[in-house]
Amino acid sequence: MDHFHYRNGELHAESVRVADIATAAGTPCYVYSAATFGDHYDRLAAAFAPLEPLICYSVKSCPNVHICRLLAQRGGGFDVVSGGELHRALAAGGDPARIVFAGVGKTDDEILSGLDAGIGWFNVESEQELENLQRLCESRGRSARAALRVNPDVDPRTHLYTTTGTKETKFGVDIERARRVFDAYGRHRLVRPCGLHLHIGSPVNSVEPYVGAIRKGLALIDELRGAGFEIDTLDIGGGFGAHYRHTEAPLAAEYAEAIVPLLRGRGLRVILEPGRSIAANAGILVTRVLYLKSSGERTFVICDAGMNDLIRPALYEAYHFVWPVRPPPGFVTDDRGEQMVIDGTQVVDVVGPVCESGDFLALNRPMPPLRRGDLLAVFAAGAYGMSMASNYNSRPRPPEVLVGGARFRTIRRRETYADLVAPEMSADGQGGG
Ligand SMILES: *Cc1c(COP(=O)(O)O)cnc(C)c1O
Repeated sequence: MDHFHYRNGELHAESVRVADIATAAGTPCYVYSAATFGDHYDRLAAAFAPLEPLICYSVKSCPNVHICRLLAQRGGGFDVVSGGELHRALAAGGDPARIVFAGVGKTDDEILSGLDAGIGWFNVESEQELENLQRLCESRGRSARAALRVNPDVDPRTHLYTTTGTKETKFGVDIERARRVFDAYGRHRLVRPCGLHLHIGSPVNSVEPYVGAIRKGLALIDELRGAGFEIDTLDIGGGFGAHYRHTEAPLAAEYAEAIVPLLRGRGLRVILEPGRSIAANAGILVTRVLYLKSSGERTFVICDAGMNDLIRPALYEAYHFVWPVRPPPGFVTDDRGEQMVIDGTQVVDVVGPVCESGDFLALNRPMPPLRRGDLLAVFAAGAYGMSMASNYNSRPRPPEVLVGGARFRTIRRRETYADLVAPEMSADGQGGG
Protein backbone atom coordinates (compact mmCIF):
# COMPACT_ATOMS: atom_id res chain seq x y z
CA MET A 1 0.00 0.00 0.00
CA ASP A 2 2.94 2.32 0.39
CA HIS A 3 6.67 2.75 0.06
CA PHE A 4 7.49 3.11 3.78
CA HIS A 5 9.34 -0.02 4.88
CA TYR A 6 11.83 -1.23 7.44
CA ARG A 7 15.16 -2.18 5.97
CA ASN A 8 18.40 -2.87 7.87
CA GLY A 9 16.49 -2.26 11.09
CA GLU A 10 15.17 1.19 10.30
CA LEU A 11 12.31 2.88 8.51
CA HIS A 12 12.87 4.00 4.93
CA ALA A 13 10.76 6.23 2.73
CA GLU A 14 11.41 4.66 -0.68
CA SER A 15 15.24 4.39 -0.59
CA VAL A 16 15.85 7.16 1.94
CA ARG A 17 16.43 6.61 5.65
CA VAL A 18 13.71 8.49 7.52
CA ALA A 19 16.22 9.31 10.27
CA ASP A 20 18.31 11.20 7.70
CA ILE A 21 15.29 13.29 6.73
CA ALA A 22 14.61 14.05 10.40
CA THR A 23 18.21 15.20 10.79
CA ALA A 24 17.98 17.45 7.75
CA ALA A 25 14.45 18.83 8.23
CA GLY A 26 14.10 18.61 12.02
CA THR A 27 11.02 17.30 13.81
CA PRO A 28 8.12 17.22 13.64
CA CYS A 29 7.97 16.88 9.87
CA TYR A 30 5.72 15.35 7.25
CA VAL A 31 7.41 12.96 4.84
CA TYR A 32 5.68 12.01 1.58
CA SER A 33 6.50 9.32 -0.96
CA ALA A 34 6.08 10.41 -4.57
CA ALA A 35 5.92 6.78 -5.71
CA THR A 36 3.04 6.09 -3.33
CA PHE A 37 1.07 9.09 -4.58
CA GLY A 38 1.70 7.92 -8.13
CA ASP A 39 0.76 4.30 -7.43
CA HIS A 40 -2.55 5.18 -5.83
CA TYR A 41 -3.47 7.55 -8.62
CA ASP A 42 -2.49 4.98 -11.26
CA ARG A 43 -4.43 2.18 -9.59
CA LEU A 44 -7.60 4.25 -9.58
CA ALA A 45 -7.06 5.32 -13.17
CA ALA A 46 -6.49 1.70 -14.26
CA ALA A 47 -9.44 0.33 -12.29
CA PHE A 48 -11.91 2.88 -13.67
CA ALA A 49 -10.37 3.01 -17.18
CA PRO A 50 -13.46 1.48 -18.87
CA LEU A 51 -15.36 4.65 -17.94
CA GLU A 52 -12.59 7.00 -19.11
CA PRO A 53 -13.27 9.08 -16.01
CA LEU A 54 -11.91 12.45 -15.07
CA ILE A 55 -10.02 11.96 -11.80
CA CYS A 56 -10.18 15.20 -9.86
CA TYR A 57 -7.81 14.98 -6.91
CA SER A 58 -9.38 16.47 -3.80
CA VAL A 59 -6.99 19.30 -2.99
CA LYS A 60 -8.08 19.59 0.62
CA SER A 61 -6.67 16.17 1.50
CA CYS A 62 -3.04 17.22 0.90
CA PRO A 63 -2.87 20.60 -0.81
CA ASN A 64 0.85 21.24 -1.25
CA VAL A 65 1.40 22.67 -4.75
CA HIS A 66 4.22 20.21 -5.43
CA ILE A 67 1.89 17.31 -4.66
CA CYS A 68 -0.82 18.85 -6.86
CA ARG A 69 1.72 19.25 -9.66
CA LEU A 70 2.76 15.62 -9.37
CA LEU A 71 -0.87 14.58 -9.91
CA ALA A 72 -1.52 17.10 -12.67
CA GLN A 73 1.46 15.63 -14.52
CA ARG A 74 -0.24 12.23 -14.36
CA GLY A 75 -3.35 13.67 -15.99
CA GLY A 76 -5.37 14.42 -12.91
CA GLY A 77 -7.81 17.29 -12.58
CA PHE A 78 -8.72 18.91 -9.26
CA ASP A 79 -11.65 19.07 -6.90
CA VAL A 80 -11.47 22.41 -5.07
CA VAL A 81 -13.69 23.68 -2.29
CA SER A 82 -12.47 27.27 -1.90
CA GLY A 83 -10.88 30.16 -3.76
CA GLY A 84 -7.60 29.28 -2.02
CA GLU A 85 -7.69 25.73 -3.35
CA LEU A 86 -8.51 27.01 -6.83
CA HIS A 87 -5.44 29.22 -6.56
CA ARG A 88 -3.32 26.21 -5.59
CA ALA A 89 -4.67 24.04 -8.40
CA LEU A 90 -3.90 26.72 -10.97
CA ALA A 91 -0.48 27.43 -9.41
CA ALA A 92 0.30 23.72 -9.78
CA GLY A 93 -0.36 23.94 -13.50
CA GLY A 94 -3.81 22.37 -13.31
CA ASP A 95 -5.94 22.56 -16.45
CA PRO A 96 -8.95 24.79 -15.57
CA ALA A 97 -11.21 22.67 -17.77
CA ARG A 98 -10.45 19.73 -15.46
CA ILE A 99 -11.36 21.54 -12.24
CA VAL A 100 -14.62 21.06 -10.32
CA PHE A 101 -15.52 23.65 -7.68
CA ALA A 102 -17.58 22.24 -4.78
CA GLY A 103 -18.61 23.56 -1.39
CA VAL A 104 -21.80 24.73 0.33
CA GLY A 105 -20.76 28.34 0.85
CA LYS A 106 -19.03 29.83 -2.18
CA THR A 107 -18.72 33.62 -2.00
CA ASP A 108 -19.27 35.87 -5.03
CA ASP A 109 -15.51 36.44 -5.22
CA GLU A 110 -14.85 32.72 -5.27
CA ILE A 111 -17.46 32.09 -7.95
CA LEU A 112 -16.07 34.93 -10.04
CA SER A 113 -12.52 33.61 -9.82
CA GLY A 114 -13.80 30.24 -11.01
CA LEU A 115 -15.64 31.88 -13.90
CA ASP A 116 -12.63 33.97 -14.86
CA ALA A 117 -10.38 30.90 -14.78
CA GLY A 118 -12.87 28.99 -16.95
CA ILE A 119 -13.20 25.97 -14.69
CA GLY A 120 -14.98 22.83 -15.89
CA TRP A 121 -17.87 22.54 -13.43
CA PHE A 122 -19.44 24.27 -10.46
CA ASN A 123 -20.94 21.73 -8.11
CA VAL A 124 -23.84 23.71 -6.71
CA GLU A 125 -25.47 22.81 -3.45
CA SER A 126 -28.65 24.90 -3.23
CA GLU A 127 -31.22 26.80 -5.31
CA GLN A 128 -29.90 30.11 -4.02
CA GLU A 129 -26.37 29.23 -5.04
CA LEU A 130 -27.50 28.26 -8.54
CA GLU A 131 -29.49 31.46 -8.82
CA ASN A 132 -26.45 33.43 -7.68
CA LEU A 133 -24.21 31.64 -10.18
CA GLN A 134 -26.68 32.54 -12.92
CA ARG A 135 -26.71 36.17 -11.81
CA LEU A 136 -22.89 36.35 -11.76
CA CYS A 137 -22.64 34.72 -15.19
CA GLU A 138 -25.01 37.33 -16.58
CA SER A 139 -22.99 40.15 -15.03
CA ARG A 140 -19.75 38.73 -16.45
CA GLY A 141 -21.25 37.66 -19.76
CA ARG A 142 -19.82 34.20 -19.18
CA SER A 143 -21.27 30.75 -19.35
CA ALA A 144 -20.71 27.89 -16.91
CA ARG A 145 -21.54 24.27 -16.42
CA ALA A 146 -23.16 23.22 -13.16
CA ALA A 147 -23.70 19.88 -11.50
CA LEU A 148 -26.30 19.80 -8.76
CA ARG A 149 -25.17 18.11 -5.57
CA VAL A 150 -27.77 15.61 -4.52
CA ASN A 151 -28.16 13.78 -1.23
CA PRO A 152 -28.96 10.24 -2.21
CA ASP A 153 -29.91 9.54 1.42
CA VAL A 154 -27.64 6.55 1.92
CA ASP A 155 -25.73 5.86 5.10
CA PRO A 156 -22.00 5.59 4.39
CA ARG A 157 -21.43 4.14 7.89
CA THR A 158 -18.57 6.45 8.70
CA HIS A 159 -17.90 9.04 11.39
CA LEU A 160 -20.77 11.46 12.13
CA TYR A 161 -18.52 14.42 11.30
CA THR A 162 -17.71 13.03 7.85
CA THR A 163 -21.16 11.78 6.90
CA THR A 164 -22.42 13.95 4.08
CA GLY A 165 -24.84 11.90 2.02
CA THR A 166 -27.80 11.44 4.34
CA LYS A 167 -30.96 13.47 3.96
CA GLU A 168 -30.30 15.72 6.91
CA THR A 169 -26.86 17.16 6.27
CA LYS A 170 -26.02 20.66 5.16
CA PHE A 171 -24.70 19.33 1.85
CA GLY A 172 -26.60 19.29 -1.43
CA VAL A 173 -30.34 18.96 -1.89
CA ASP A 174 -32.54 15.90 -1.53
CA ILE A 175 -33.81 14.09 -4.60
CA GLU A 176 -37.34 15.50 -4.40
CA ARG A 177 -36.01 19.02 -4.34
CA ALA A 178 -33.51 18.27 -7.11
CA ARG A 179 -36.35 17.77 -9.61
CA ARG A 180 -37.80 21.14 -8.65
CA VAL A 181 -34.42 22.85 -8.94
CA PHE A 182 -34.08 21.59 -12.51
CA ASP A 183 -37.63 22.69 -13.32
CA ALA A 184 -37.03 26.16 -11.94
CA TYR A 185 -33.42 26.80 -13.01
CA GLY A 186 -32.55 24.13 -15.56
CA ARG A 187 -33.07 26.16 -18.73
CA HIS A 188 -30.87 29.17 -18.14
CA ARG A 189 -29.06 30.38 -21.26
CA LEU A 190 -25.63 30.89 -19.60
CA VAL A 191 -25.58 28.30 -16.83
CA ARG A 192 -26.32 24.81 -17.96
CA PRO A 193 -27.14 22.41 -15.12
CA CYS A 194 -25.72 19.43 -16.94
CA GLY A 195 -25.07 16.92 -14.23
CA LEU A 196 -25.39 15.53 -10.75
CA HIS A 197 -22.81 15.41 -8.00
CA LEU A 198 -22.80 12.82 -5.23
CA HIS A 199 -20.36 12.76 -2.32
CA ILE A 200 -21.65 10.57 0.47
CA GLY A 201 -18.94 10.77 3.14
CA SER A 202 -15.45 9.68 3.97
CA PRO A 203 -13.97 7.22 4.50
CA VAL A 204 -16.55 4.81 3.05
CA ASN A 205 -14.98 1.41 3.62
CA SER A 206 -17.49 -0.59 1.60
CA VAL A 207 -18.87 -0.44 -1.90
CA GLU A 208 -22.60 -0.78 -1.12
CA PRO A 209 -23.23 2.88 -0.23
CA TYR A 210 -21.77 3.89 -3.61
CA VAL A 211 -23.93 1.38 -5.44
CA GLY A 212 -27.03 2.64 -3.63
CA ALA A 213 -26.19 6.29 -4.24
CA ILE A 214 -25.32 5.81 -7.91
CA ARG A 215 -28.51 3.82 -8.57
CA LYS A 216 -30.57 6.67 -7.13
CA GLY A 217 -28.56 9.22 -9.09
CA LEU A 218 -29.08 7.30 -12.33
CA ALA A 219 -32.83 7.02 -11.75
CA LEU A 220 -32.99 10.78 -11.32
CA ILE A 221 -30.89 11.31 -14.45
CA ASP A 222 -33.28 9.11 -16.45
CA GLU A 223 -36.19 11.17 -15.18
CA LEU A 224 -34.48 14.48 -15.95
CA ARG A 225 -33.50 13.30 -19.42
CA GLY A 226 -37.10 12.23 -19.95
CA ALA A 227 -38.15 15.77 -19.09
CA GLY A 228 -35.85 17.11 -21.79
CA PHE A 229 -32.78 18.11 -19.76
CA GLU A 230 -29.41 17.30 -21.29
CA ILE A 231 -27.56 15.53 -18.51
CA ASP A 232 -24.04 14.55 -19.49
CA THR A 233 -22.05 14.48 -16.22
CA LEU A 234 -22.16 12.32 -13.10
CA ASP A 235 -19.64 13.18 -10.41
CA ILE A 236 -19.55 10.33 -7.89
CA GLY A 237 -17.40 12.26 -5.39
CA GLY A 238 -14.62 10.88 -3.22
CA GLY A 239 -14.56 9.02 0.06
CA PHE A 240 -12.76 5.83 -0.92
CA GLY A 241 -11.00 4.45 2.15
CA ALA A 242 -7.33 4.19 3.00
CA HIS A 243 -5.29 1.68 4.95
CA TYR A 244 -4.84 2.99 8.48
CA ARG A 245 -4.86 -0.36 10.28
CA HIS A 246 -4.48 -3.20 7.83
CA THR A 247 -6.50 -3.66 4.72
CA GLU A 248 -9.79 -2.34 6.04
CA ALA A 249 -10.60 -0.40 2.88
CA PRO A 250 -11.50 -2.02 -0.44
CA LEU A 251 -8.89 -1.71 -3.16
CA ALA A 252 -9.48 0.64 -6.08
CA ALA A 253 -10.22 -2.42 -8.20
CA GLU A 254 -12.91 -3.55 -5.77
CA TYR A 255 -14.72 -0.21 -5.80
CA ALA A 256 -14.45 -0.21 -9.59
CA GLU A 257 -15.77 -3.74 -9.92
CA ALA A 258 -19.05 -2.65 -8.34
CA ILE A 259 -19.27 0.84 -9.85
CA VAL A 260 -18.07 0.46 -13.44
CA PRO A 261 -20.90 -1.84 -14.59
CA LEU A 262 -23.50 0.62 -13.29
CA LEU A 263 -22.10 3.53 -15.30
CA ARG A 264 -20.84 1.89 -18.46
CA GLY A 265 -22.66 2.89 -21.62
CA ARG A 266 -24.82 5.51 -19.94
CA GLY A 267 -23.47 8.38 -22.02
CA LEU A 268 -22.11 10.15 -18.97
CA ARG A 269 -18.86 11.94 -18.31
CA VAL A 270 -17.88 10.32 -15.01
CA ILE A 271 -15.91 12.33 -12.47
CA LEU A 272 -14.17 10.92 -9.38
CA GLU A 273 -12.94 13.12 -6.52
CA PRO A 274 -10.50 10.98 -4.55
CA GLY A 275 -8.40 12.56 -1.84
CA ARG A 276 -7.76 10.25 1.08
CA SER A 277 -7.36 7.09 -1.02
CA ILE A 278 -4.50 8.77 -2.90
CA ALA A 279 -2.84 10.79 -0.14
CA ALA A 280 -3.31 9.02 3.21
CA ASN A 281 -0.86 6.18 2.76
CA ALA A 282 1.57 8.43 0.89
CA GLY A 283 2.63 10.35 4.00
CA ILE A 284 3.93 9.89 7.54
CA LEU A 285 4.43 12.34 10.36
CA VAL A 286 7.84 12.02 12.02
CA THR A 287 8.11 13.13 15.63
CA ARG A 288 10.73 12.92 18.36
CA VAL A 289 10.18 11.65 21.89
CA LEU A 290 10.75 14.49 24.35
CA TYR A 291 9.88 12.84 27.64
CA LEU A 292 8.50 9.68 29.17
CA LYS A 293 6.46 9.64 32.33
CA SER A 294 4.07 7.49 34.32
CA SER A 295 0.97 8.65 36.06
CA GLY A 296 -1.04 6.09 37.98
CA GLU A 297 -1.45 3.12 35.67
CA ARG A 298 -0.66 5.02 32.50
CA THR A 299 2.59 5.64 30.73
CA PHE A 300 2.86 8.72 28.56
CA VAL A 301 5.21 9.21 25.67
CA ILE A 302 5.39 12.96 25.16
CA CYS A 303 6.45 13.96 21.65
CA ASP A 304 7.19 17.13 19.77
CA ALA A 305 4.17 16.68 17.43
CA GLY A 306 0.72 17.47 18.71
CA MET A 307 -2.88 17.98 17.73
CA ASN A 308 -1.99 21.20 15.95
CA ASP A 309 0.19 19.14 13.58
CA LEU A 310 -2.20 16.18 13.23
CA ILE A 311 -5.70 16.68 14.57
CA ARG A 312 -7.38 13.52 13.27
CA PRO A 313 -6.98 11.47 16.48
CA ALA A 314 -8.44 14.31 18.57
CA LEU A 315 -11.17 15.27 16.12
CA TYR A 316 -12.37 11.91 14.79
CA GLU A 317 -10.80 9.49 17.26
CA ALA A 318 -8.90 8.38 14.20
CA TYR A 319 -6.45 5.51 14.42
CA HIS A 320 -2.89 5.98 13.17
CA PHE A 321 -0.32 3.26 13.61
CA VAL A 322 2.73 4.62 15.46
CA TRP A 323 6.08 2.85 15.60
CA PRO A 324 9.72 3.82 16.18
CA VAL A 325 11.77 4.82 13.16
CA ARG A 326 14.64 2.74 14.57
CA PRO A 327 13.03 0.09 16.77
CA PRO A 328 15.15 -1.91 19.19
CA PRO A 329 16.28 -5.28 17.73
CA GLY A 330 13.38 -7.73 17.80
CA PHE A 331 10.77 -5.02 17.25
CA VAL A 332 11.39 -4.36 13.58
CA THR A 333 8.20 -5.06 11.65
CA ASP A 334 6.24 -3.96 8.63
CA ASP A 335 3.10 -5.41 10.14
CA ARG A 336 0.91 -2.46 11.05
CA GLY A 337 -1.82 -4.46 12.70
CA GLU A 338 -3.96 -2.80 15.30
CA GLN A 339 -3.61 -5.52 17.90
CA MET A 340 0.06 -6.12 17.33
CA VAL A 341 1.49 -7.23 20.64
CA ILE A 342 5.09 -8.36 20.64
CA ASP A 343 6.74 -9.69 23.79
CA GLY A 344 8.39 -6.85 25.61
CA THR A 345 6.06 -4.09 24.44
CA GLN A 346 4.49 -1.80 26.99
CA VAL A 347 1.08 -0.13 26.61
CA VAL A 348 1.48 3.65 26.36
CA ASP A 349 -0.33 6.83 25.34
CA VAL A 350 1.53 8.84 22.70
CA VAL A 351 0.70 12.47 23.37
CA GLY A 352 1.73 15.93 22.21
CA PRO A 353 2.86 19.08 23.99
CA VAL A 354 -0.34 21.12 23.43
CA CYS A 355 -2.31 22.28 26.47
CA GLU A 356 -5.38 20.10 25.85
CA SER A 357 -6.17 16.67 27.24
CA GLY A 358 -7.44 15.79 23.73
CA ASP A 359 -3.91 16.26 22.45
CA PHE A 360 -2.93 12.70 21.65
CA LEU A 361 -1.66 10.82 18.63
CA ALA A 362 -2.34 7.30 19.91
CA LEU A 363 -3.90 5.81 23.03
CA ASN A 364 -3.32 2.43 24.65
CA ARG A 365 -0.69 1.22 22.25
CA PRO A 366 1.79 -1.57 22.75
CA MET A 367 5.15 0.06 22.07
CA PRO A 368 8.75 -1.14 22.30
CA PRO A 369 10.87 0.39 25.07
CA LEU A 370 11.52 4.02 24.18
CA ARG A 371 14.02 6.61 25.27
CA ARG A 372 14.21 10.36 25.06
CA GLY A 373 15.24 11.45 21.58
CA ASP A 374 13.82 8.40 19.77
CA LEU A 375 12.02 9.09 16.51
CA LEU A 376 8.47 7.85 15.97
CA ALA A 377 6.61 7.52 12.69
CA VAL A 378 2.88 8.19 12.62
CA PHE A 379 1.72 6.26 9.57
CA ALA A 380 -0.98 7.05 6.99
CA ALA A 381 -0.83 10.75 7.83
CA GLY A 382 -0.68 12.04 4.25
CA ALA A 383 -4.36 13.01 4.02
CA TYR A 384 -5.98 15.55 6.33
CA GLY A 385 -2.69 15.83 8.20
CA MET A 386 -0.81 18.95 7.16
CA SER A 387 -3.97 20.28 5.51
CA MET A 388 -5.69 20.50 8.90
CA ALA A 389 -2.61 21.66 10.82
CA SER A 390 -2.88 24.91 12.74
CA ASN A 391 -0.77 27.31 14.75
CA TYR A 392 -2.63 26.56 18.00
CA ASN A 393 -0.41 27.26 21.02
CA SER A 394 1.61 29.45 18.62
CA ARG A 395 3.37 26.42 17.23
CA PRO A 396 4.89 26.94 13.78
CA ARG A 397 3.57 24.37 11.33
CA PRO A 398 5.98 21.57 10.38
CA PRO A 399 7.84 21.27 7.07
CA GLU A 400 6.85 18.87 4.31
CA VAL A 401 9.46 16.70 2.61
CA LEU A 402 8.90 14.80 -0.63
CA VAL A 403 10.90 11.65 -1.30
CA GLY A 404 11.42 10.33 -4.81
CA GLY A 405 13.62 7.23 -5.04
CA ALA A 406 16.90 7.92 -3.29
CA ARG A 407 16.40 11.69 -3.11
CA PHE A 408 14.35 14.01 -1.00
CA ARG A 409 13.55 17.70 -1.01
CA THR A 410 11.67 20.12 1.19
CA ILE A 411 8.43 21.16 -0.51
CA ARG A 412 7.32 23.43 2.30
CA ARG A 413 9.72 24.91 4.82
CA ARG A 414 9.10 24.91 8.54
CA GLU A 415 7.29 28.05 9.66
CA THR A 416 9.26 30.48 11.80
CA TYR A 417 8.29 32.59 14.80
CA ALA A 418 8.44 35.58 12.45
CA ASP A 419 5.84 33.84 10.22
CA LEU A 420 3.59 33.48 13.25
CA VAL A 421 3.40 37.19 13.96
CA ALA A 422 3.87 38.58 10.43
CA PRO A 423 0.16 39.27 9.70
CA GLU A 424 -0.07 41.04 13.06
CA MET A 425 3.07 43.11 12.50
CA SER A 426 1.84 44.21 9.08
CA ALA A 427 -1.71 45.03 10.23
CA ASP A 428 -2.32 48.75 9.85
CA GLY A 429 -3.93 49.28 13.22
CA GLN A 430 -6.89 51.01 11.57
CA GLY A 431 -10.52 50.05 11.84
CA GLY A 432 -11.96 47.99 14.62
CA GLY A 433 -12.09 49.91 17.84
C1 LIG B 1 -13.55 16.13 0.87
C2 LIG B 1 -14.23 15.88 -0.40
C3 LIG B 1 -13.75 14.91 -1.27
C4 LIG B 1 -12.59 14.01 -0.96
O1 LIG B 1 -12.89 13.05 -0.01
P1 LIG B 1 -11.84 11.89 0.29
O2 LIG B 1 -12.44 11.13 1.38
O3 LIG B 1 -10.58 12.54 0.72
O4 LIG B 1 -11.69 11.09 -0.94
C5 LIG B 1 -14.37 14.77 -2.50
N1 LIG B 1 -15.43 15.54 -2.83
C6 LIG B 1 -15.92 16.48 -2.01
C7 LIG B 1 -17.07 17.30 -2.44
C8 LIG B 1 -15.35 16.68 -0.77
O5 LIG B 1 -15.85 17.61 0.06
